[in-house]
Amino acid sequence: MSFCEEMIRDRLEANGLAAVPEQIERIHVYFQMLKEWNTRMDLIAQMSDEEIIDRHFVDSLTVLKTELLPDAGKVIDVGTGAGFPGMVLAMMRENLSVTLMDAQMKRLKFLSAVQEACGIRNVEIIHGRAEELGRRKEYREAYDAAVARAVAPLSVLCEYLLPFVRMGGCALCWKGPAIRDEMENGRRAAHLLGGRLEMPVECPVSGRDWNHLILPIRKTEKTSREYPRKAGVPKARPLGGTQPA
Ligand code: SAM
Repeated sequence: MSFCEEMIRDRLEANGLAAVPEQIERIHVYFQMLKEWNTRMDLIAQMSDEEIIDRHFVDSLTVLKTELLPDAGKVIDVGTGAGFPGMVLAMMRENLSVTLMDAQMKRLKFLSAVQEACGIRNVEIIHGRAEELGRRKEYREAYDAAVARAVAPLSVLCEYLLPFVRMGGCALCWKGPAIRDEMENGRRAAHLLGGRLEMPVECPVSGRDWNHLILPIRKTEKTSREYPRKAGVPKARPLGGTQPA
């Protein structure tokens, strides 16, 4: 095992995440490709190797220590960017069928290259905006979970995510402590879209003071056909109102 693979294994173990050698190898290939492609395109901010592992890979996987994600089923990662959290989750949970979706084609090209290099079979990569794909029959209310990290404020995220979630399923929003300011509008937006906010679950990364958490939104009613609204509208006129300045 290389020094870098040992570092990945150690950071996963420090966070209570057990991985078999094949999983560490895949994450290592993904990590090396991320750094290499990042010299040519804007995928992630510059930081040390250990911080990349913690900030992107471990942070994506903390959900596996909770009961929030099913062991098997269909998951869509909305605004996946360089594949967080969806690609890492697919690498660690082969029983999940993961759709990685983003509006930026160049990021999806990177993800296709990772998929090919690592031989990932449980991932589908699609290009488009949440507002358009969420209206399409094949994606609408077709997922057990819709996940998103660093994509939009909660009220906007509700309109992006909930149309994809089947009744009884969940939207899972990776958030930081600023979530407190987003809760009120988020609750109103979720209600209009057939969702109900549940208790946020703390998802710390060992040795980091990020105070990250995951907010589940349960789908309790079907989403009205009027949502999502046209591309750009959810962000310009968030359903639950705009956040306080
Ligand atoms: N989720 C990744 C992460 O945590 O590293 C990427 C975060 S990046 C800051 C936000 C991503 O969301 C970008 O790749 C952007 O193209 C995508 N995005 C934003 N709004 C979107 C929308 N309405 N539909 C699809 N993708 C969107």
